[in-house]
Amino acid sequence: MASNIIRPGYVGKFSCIGPDCEDSCCIDWSVHVDKQSYLKIMAHPQLKSLAEDSMQPINVKDEDWAIIRFSEQGRCPFLQQDKLCKIHAVAGEEALSETCRSYPRIFRVRGDDGFESLSLSCPEAARLILFGEDAFIFERNETEKPIQPRSVPLWAEKAYDYSIDLLLDEHSDWQQTLLAIGLLVNCADKVTKQQALPELLDDTYTQLSHMAAEGELRQAFQSLPYLPEHQLHIFLSVHSMCCDEHPRRYRPRFGELNDAILAMSDGKEALNMEKINSAWNDIAVPALRANEDLFSRYLLYYIYHLQFPMTADNSPLSAFNFLVLDCFMLRSYLAVMAARHNGLSERDIVLCFQVYHVVRQHKPNFHKSVRSIMEQSALTGVEAVVSLLKVSGS
Ligand code: SF4
Repeated sequence: MASNIIRPGYVGKFSCIGPDCEDSCCIDWSVHVDKQSYLKIMAHPQLKSLAEDSMQPINVKDEDWAIIRFSEQGRCPFLQQDKLCKIHAVAGEEALSETCRSYPRIFRVRGDDGFESLSLSCPEAARLILFGEDAFIFERNETEKPIQPRSVPLWAEKAYDYSIDLLLDEHSDWQQTLLAIGLLVNCADKVTKQQALPELLDDTYTQLSHMAAEGELRQAFQSLPYLPEHQLHIFLSVHSMCCDEHPRRYRPRFGELNDAILAMSDGKEALNMEKINSAWNDIAVPALRANEDLFSRYLLYYIYHLQFPMTADNSPLSAFNFLVLDCFMLRSYLAVMAARHNGLSERDIVLCFQVYHVVRQHKPNFHKSVRSIMEQSALTGVEAVVSLLKVSGS
């Protein structure tokens, strides 16, 4: 059977903005080079000498043959003054390592088809995903290229499709939708543990759609407890972990976010979640009127990009916990930025999403650390996790 490639509009429109990039991926990353690219670069007369000084063979496997040593200032040695890559400039795109050539593009296989996406850790990708016109118009094209199929369990197919359907349901806002997705994923979890059949997801989806249409989902969300002290503990724990793990923690963009948090706790008053949540309600929400679909876009991207709620260890509830936590962290960052600037510009929004996703997507320890923070806070059960999204007692 022929395979298809699925491409969202944000991928089709993407092109690296190179010298105009506000947070170039050629600074502070660790770049791994495949064997073929390594040999090509080493054989190029204009690159050989620099390559000998800055590329260190590690010979782990062909895709991971060498690493590029960055300067003390965190710059890739091939990055020129004009912010263009020397390898690209003198030897062409085909000489770039697979990592440099493909970033921020991501390709995943689901069933027989390939799904293209972009990493939110690239600012230009973040702009297109969060604001681009036609970002979520999907193209499907047949391909002759061989694709190694990856089977998807029925529960994952249903949970993925129904999560998107719930997101597109106009009866609920994004926080209420997350509660519905959580209840759906809870059923998926039972299926993975063989406590239920996949058909339970069909019935649950029908019931959740009905609840959304009748306003019962809104009531269920409103009845969740509001626990600001609990929220603050999670926010500060995850942010401190980002401060330790962020590859660009000493750079201005991360500093801007950090300064906005510190500004909220200036003076005698310690940071408190009520202040952050008020900043969300009173400053960020009005500032986002023109971009009311911001979180719906993010959620659509997230579900598609990660093929939610599939995980390597078949743990849909763990995928859901991360989804809610990411939304909570991003909303809190937007709130502190809004308080700092008395509003939110497109630049502020891109900064919050992109800077957070640098550590979110590129640090394997992130998952382990977040899981342990959530366990310590006894954040278990869909309702408890979704209560992180409450911004007031009503
Ligand atoms: S982060 Fe994105 S836009 Fe910036 S240099 Fe890298 S690929 Fe280009």
